[in-house]
Amino acid sequence: MLRSLYRRLGLGHLVLALAVFSLLAAFANTFYSAYRVQREILLTNALEANRVYAAKLADSTSNFVRSAQQQLAVSASLLGARPFGRQALEDEAWRLLHQTDSFNSVLIVDARGTVLAVMPTTLNLAGKQLDSEGARAALDARQPRITQAYVSAAGNLVVNISQPILGKDGRYLGYVAGSIYLREKGILHALLGEHYYRDGSYLYVVDRAGRILYHPDSGRIGKVARDNPIVADVIAGKAGTRRIANSRNIDMLAGFAPVPVAGWGIVAQRPVAATLAEMDRLTLAVLRDTVPLVIASLLAAWYLAGLIAKPLRQLAQATGEKDTAATLRSIQGIRAWYFEARQLKQAVLEGLATLQAQIGALNEAAVTDPMTGLRNRRALSAQLRNWGAAAQPFAVIAIDVDRFKRVNDTYGHEAGDKVICHIARLMRECSRQGDFLCRAGGEEFLMLLPGCGAAEAMLIAERLRQRTAATPAPGVCAVTVSLGVASWPESHGSMERVLALADAALYAAKEQGRNRTVADASLDLPDAPRPPAPRSAG
Ligand code: GH3
Ligand code: MG
Ligand code: MG
Repeated sequence: MLRSLYRRLGLGHLVLALAVFSLLAAFANTFYSAYRVQREILLTNALEANRVYAAKLADSTSNFVRSAQQQLAVSASLLGARPFGRQALEDEAWRLLHQTDSFNSVLIVDARGTVLAVMPTTLNLAGKQLDSEGARAALDARQPRITQAYVSAAGNLVVNISQPILGKDGRYLGYVAGSIYLREKGILHALLGEHYYRDGSYLYVVDRAGRILYHPDSGRIGKVARDNPIVADVIAGKAGTRRIANSRNIDMLAGFAPVPVAGWGIVAQRPVAATLAEMDRLTLAVLRDTVPLVIASLLAAWYLAGLIAKPLRQLAQATGEKDTAATLRSIQGIRAWYFEARQLKQAVLEGLATLQAQIGALNEAAVTDPMTGLRNRRALSAQLRNWGAAAQPFAVIAIDVDRFKRVNDTYGHEAGDKVICHIARLMRECSRQGDFLCRAGGEEFLMLLPGCGAAEAMLIAERLRQRTAATPAPGVCAVTVSLGVASWPESHGSMERVLALADAALYAAKEQGRNRTVADASLDLPDAPRPPAPRSAG
């Protein structure tokens, strides 16, 4: 299975695999970067939004505290200006309580800590000596003050804002104080509580001791949260942002800002999970935008990979064609549209052309007699097979140089070679295109004349004999040849036998004295006329 896959694996697949890998890697990279950046932006934005929000609320809270102090300051200066009767004091307390929503209760206290007037009267504190933490602090301080959260004489968790009452002579007469009940609906809830978010976001307020003054979870109001690093920062007067786990171990993004006038701090925070919930939507949006592009790119890569691989695949397939001619045709048809493919195509074409030329030359050499350039016996067999298959009629002239041994002996072997070449030349001159001229061995030759009858072959043989006798080989003496003629189908015998019949006729020519042409005995032909006697005896 794997091996067959491996065998079919091609350049196209590899290019495609590379392109797909690069595309997917780039896509994953981009997607991951986009995800990281968006996540970072969401977190940073949420932190910054909470910081701004805390700062805004800190500002509002400062304004409220200052306004409350202002109201008490006006009352204190009125009360210090002249002595007041009990009813007038109660009226002033009533006015302070009801003129604005600033306070849950109002007290007017003398310099010894005795309550002169109280609103609401249900507190039942009139005439009582105060011993609460807030009361003592206000008496001791003798100046404008905002207490930390504490449990009041009436048992409420309160923050107390007080102003000293000074007589005309500057004597300390007591103080007027407004209380804010932290566990009841009041100004702090109105100021902060409406801003409670539904997605788990909330804010809380701490005093300078780290005690929680406001929290949407009322059970936490009054608890000290000094260990929380944000609380530590904000009561130290710092503003900023921080990612932190809250008391219930929920990962939160917090912004915080101090309220310097009261020494309080405001912390606004939103759960990380709620902030990142938006990521799913953003991620889907990115996917929706990117996936079609990736698919289009993959299709383009697939098409291009095919285009790049095509010429090389065609080259590879062409080399598997059954013969060189088919290979050449296939390769010539390949559209090699880029440099490497062009070079390869060219190189293969040139290589094949060279190979063909060499094979041609070798084939030629295999069927050619090197000395004369005539065909050899191997070519003769092939030629006879072809004609046999086509039942091609032909005549045979068998030729042998007379007394050739003497030529060699007299003039030397090289001269003998020249004579052999000379006879070959004469054979060519006496033949037509399409005749088959063969050196059968030594100084013996064959001429096969397709479509030629025995009579005509006799004439050609005789012409060759006469020209041989009349034309000396260059630098050597003239020689004579004896010739035997047979033909198929005129001679009596099969096509295979016709060569032997020609040989037999040649033998007869030798027998009859050489330098003559003799027809195969089965042919009804006269032998060629006897030549004149040779001038020089051999
Ligand atoms: P005849 O055919 O007339 O009976 O006499 P001949 O002398 O030609 O007889 P034979 O066929 O016996 O001798 C042929 C000689 O040809 C023998 C050999 O030395 C010579 N010969 C054969 N091949 C070559 C060749 O390639 N070159 C040369 N120079 N001589 C060759
Ligand atoms: Mg011979
Ligand atoms: Mg001979």
